[in-house]
Amino acid sequence: MSRLSHTPQRTCVGCGQRDAPGQMLRFRQEGSGGLAIVAVPIGGRTAYLHRTLECRVGLVKRRTVNRSLRTGVAAEQKIRFVRDLEAMLKNRAPGKEIC
Ligand SMILES: [Zn+2]
Repeated sequence: MSRLSHTPQRTCVGCGQRDAPGQMLRFRQEGSGGLAIVAVPIGGRTAYLHRTLECRVGLVKRRTVNRSLRTGVAAEQKIRFVRDLEAMLKNRAPGKEIC
């Protein structure tokens, strides 16, 4: 696992584990207050989340995302975002990368 030692690590807001950014989805809060996947490199505050169901549930239950984005995210916005993710992941073949 020495491969990981020089890979930048980010914390998943769903489970709190640190992992390589490539293993997770990157998202941010939009002006409307909703959460959106970041597909291209941008500045500003973003958060990371694994593609697993466990971590999507964790995102809704935990308040970690508020700390990562340094803002308050309404529960309904988190639920909406998770639903969007479910739909998006369902449309992809298993094992395919999203970004
Ligand atoms: Zn996670």
